[in-house]
Amino acid sequence: MITRVIDIRTNEKEALSEAARLIKDGEVVGIPTETVYGLAANALDGEAVRKIYIAKGRPSDNPLIVHISDMSELAPLVREIPEKVRLMAEKFWPGPLTMIMKKSDLIPDVTSGGLDTVAVRMPKSEYARKIIKACGLPLAAPSANLSGSPSPTNARYVFGDMDGRVPLIIDGGGCEIGVESTVITFAAEKPTLLRPGGVTVEQIEALIGEIDIASAVLNKLKDGETAASPGMKYKHYAPSADITIVKGSFEKFVDFVKDKDCFVLCFEGEEQNFENAVTYGRADDGLSEANRLFDALRELDERGAKTVYARCPEISGVGLAVYNRLIRSAGFKIKEV
Ligand code: AMP
Ligand code: MG
Repeated sequence: MITRVIDIRTNEKEALSEAARLIKDGEVVGIPTETVYGLAANALDGEAVRKIYIAKGRPSDNPLIVHISDMSELAPLVREIPEKVRLMAEKFWPGPLTMIMKKSDLIPDVTSGGLDTVAVRMPKSEYARKIIKACGLPLAAPSANLSGSPSPTNARYVFGDMDGRVPLIIDGGGCEIGVESTVITFAAEKPTLLRPGGVTVEQIEALIGEIDIASAVLNKLKDGETAASPGMKYKHYAPSADITIVKGSFEKFVDFVKDKDCFVLCFEGEEQNFENAVTYGRADDGLSEANRLFDALRELDERGAKTVYARCPEISGVGLAVYNRLIRSAGFKIKEV
């Protein structure tokens, strides 16, 4: 399969008409969103959705997020819209927030990974919403990486993973957020955070009160434990390099890595202290870290890093999302100094 790339910033008309033509025809197209790039197909067509799993090499029990462009598109996809979902949608949609509800019969089992619930998001990216509108369909779209690899935040990385696997990639430039959406379920008794992202726990609790946080957000699943969110049980975001998070002060970190043959994943302004360093944002700015993390992981591989020691982010606000991705890419290896 030949993979075409169309830049929607310079060629919007063709990008929209080609993406819509292919998706309506049951094909898979790489699309930009404000979180990370997605691999989009008609969420209501089980055969089309199956092609996403094949392109990514994704396990079939790991459900996909369904993307809509307007609030009116939600009701047909779910059994009912809980009051708290309405509140959340008013405040955070369009944006990096995915909400899980009981699914309607319109959603095929492949889209929901066999669960009786469906995850829905309205992206903030104008390009993403224009593509959904042009299709006139809800779009199932997981991150556009090969399963297990870091999520792509630009079209070049999508092409690297998906060349020959999808007919079209829409290039919309860089992603504003850089990590995947916050995922929260309203299908449980108490709203429960399954994955942290650009909309923070602090923002959500200010609006709807206390929520639960699934233990898999910060901890490795124990053998035999079932994940509330199937995606959490798989190896994820992992570059080829072997990463260890080092918790402790900057001085102790410097002391720990000196004389070691390694790369360092550190914050901006710290890199001059190390021979081989890649930075991921500023220590006091979780959003800048989110923005850089996946690119930094891919950069480490491009530079041939074998052993990497990473500075630990603040674990609050958007930093919770950064930490959640980093511990998975490190295979939960943490060293206290
Ligand atoms: P991705 O599509 O790669 O951003 O991953 C989507 C994430 O949302 C994965 O971790 C899924 O397991 C999770 N997810 C999607 N739908 C559901 C659902 N119905 N119930 C629980 N988790 C879900
Ligand atoms: Mg993913």
